Amino acid sequence: MDAQVTRPTSANSQTRNAGYATQPPLQRFLASCHEEFKADDSGNVADYIPELKRADPSHFGIALVTIDGHIYEVGDSAVPFTIQSVSKAFVFALALEMVGEERVAATIGVEPSGEAFNSIRLTSDNRPFNPMVNAGAIACSGLIHEVDGADAFERIREKLSQFAGRQLGVDDAVHQSEVITGNRNRAIAWLLRNYSVIQGDVDAVLDTYFRQCAVLVTARDLAVMAATLANRGINPVTGVQVIAPNVVARTLSVMTSSGMYDYAGEWVYRVGMPAKSGVGGGIVAALPSQIGLGTFSPRLDSHGNSARGLKVCEALSSRFDLHMLNRSADVRTCVIADYDLFGISSRRSRQPHEQQILDEHHSDIRVIELVGALNFAAIDYVTRRLAGEPPNAPLLVLDFRRVPDLTSAGAQLLGENLTILGNAGVTAILTGIEATSAVWLAIRARTGEPHRLRRFALLDEAIEWAEDQIVYRYGGFTVSKETSHLGEQALLAELTPDEIAALADLSTARRYEAGQRIISAGEPANSLFFLQNGMVSVKLPSGVRLASLGPGMEFGEMAIIEQRRSADVWADTQVKCLELPLDSFADYRQLHPQIAMKIMRNLSALLARRLILANAKVDLLSAY
Ligand code: GLN
Repeated sequence: MDAQVTRPTSANSQTRNAGYATQPPLQRFLASCHEEFKADDSGNVADYIPELKRADPSHFGIALVTIDGHIYEVGDSAVPFTIQSVSKAFVFALALEMVGEERVAATIGVEPSGEAFNSIRLTSDNRPFNPMVNAGAIACSGLIHEVDGADAFERIREKLSQFAGRQLGVDDAVHQSEVITGNRNRAIAWLLRNYSVIQGDVDAVLDTYFRQCAVLVTARDLAVMAATLANRGINPVTGVQVIAPNVVARTLSVMTSSGMYDYAGEWVYRVGMPAKSGVGGGIVAALPSQIGLGTFSPRLDSHGNSARGLKVCEALSSRFDLHMLNRSADVRTCVIADYDLFGISSRRSRQPHEQQILDEHHSDIRVIELVGALNFAAIDYVTRRLAGEPPNAPLLVLDFRRVPDLTSAGAQLLGENLTILGNAGVTAILTGIEATSAVWLAIRARTGEPHRLRRFALLDEAIEWAEDQIVYRYGGFTVSKETSHLGEQALLAELTPDEIAALADLSTARRYEAGQRIISAGEPANSLFFLQNGMVSVKLPSGVRLASLGPGMEFGEMAIIEQRRSADVWADTQVKCLELPLDSFADYRQLHPQIAMKIMRNLSALLARRLILANAKVDLLSAY
């Protein structure tokens, strides 16, 4: 996947954004934040790790990544620095993935400590307070070390790289510097060893931790990492599922309660985004389902959080109202259309007696088109709608083509509802989802009446299948017999028997096997066909079906007004038809002008009917 980048200073992005008369508003906002806060030189560069003193205090970068993978960048967003404590959030996620929820919970708490990141205090049962302070993070590295031993760091580096969407390296000088001076962390680690929170080689665990803190990232990397958390674990730039959604929720929880150390409460209150900071000057902030933010500025405030980074987060949150608890939604918007088959149909053309059955029983098929990510509340609304008016139709089509996601609570409610409906004789037909999709598998697993549950990839296929059930139920299925004469063709209405006979003489009998292509889109259109036996489908080259036709219907008739075939026609079964060359229309010695006139008139009537049908659909859908 190619990430879109908005970065006014790079020549490359200027060409990409040539279409913008002005920069997108968010880019301008970030640029104005950068301009405003770069004047702030409060705070100090961390110096307790000697090598960190070398950081340039003027560096200031901001990057923001949307969950569709667009990257906004301002300032020093490509300058590398050490990740430090920002790694804690991602390594916690890795530990959860590797050893599981229970093991992690037995080792590390999730309560805010209210203390500084390097506090040596443990809980009353001698565990670290949470994985976002040093004690908890060292314990996390210990859990990973228990599984991977000497490969633990490589495993961590690989995971952080997946979050960032590129291979990350290590600043060896910073690593060495912390190895030499990190006695406080050494004390914490030995205390943890004393309480068996760390089992095994303390020095090796510490080295893993120090190395993970020295991984080099940029503000842009942090923004991609945050956006991966905001996007339920899928890196929006690479498309890779880096971590499971339930791990993401747990990680964001501890970031919310403890990510900013002893500033955490204030942070949630004011900014309201899960975040994590590091003494290297980085901050990540993730707003679920919306954005990931990464900032870099090495001057730290008294809590050890980047002073300018904090300001950027606060400004962004207040300017765009991004507090995670400030949300609103209207569940009713999840239904964009709810209709029966009055005046509409699948693209299968029906014999007149079949159409009559369908017209009479149009309310036996109900179609509900859903939209958006569906959660518990949205599905609850759908179930209440199904329980209300009109009463249940025996065939219920639920269209999921615009539904990217369904929560498991939503799947649970829907499954229960479909089971109840199934017991009451309703067949539910789900459309717009593939057999392998998570949404389909979740619903199917929770529906007790599998034979009352069907799935089609396309809404049109589902409606056709439902129509077939209705036609069948009311005895309308007849074995399609050969049309005895051309007089039954709609296009040839009003022709006298002599005229029909003349036409038959000019035509050639054709036979096709099932699966054979009869007409190809793009070819010159120089004949039309009268279908006598079997079924054909008119499809666009993309595979989208425009119509299915049976005996007594014509195809290729648009040749009369178009020079080229606009669609493919395939034989669905064995097919017998008559092909009439168009030349005969131009030559009065072959086809009398009066016959041609009648055919043209019939064609106009056919086209008018199609237009009326199309208008009815437009009208129906615009009502929602
Ligand atoms: N490596 C640093 C330490 O353990 C990380 C601390 C931080 O970023 N807050 O002291």
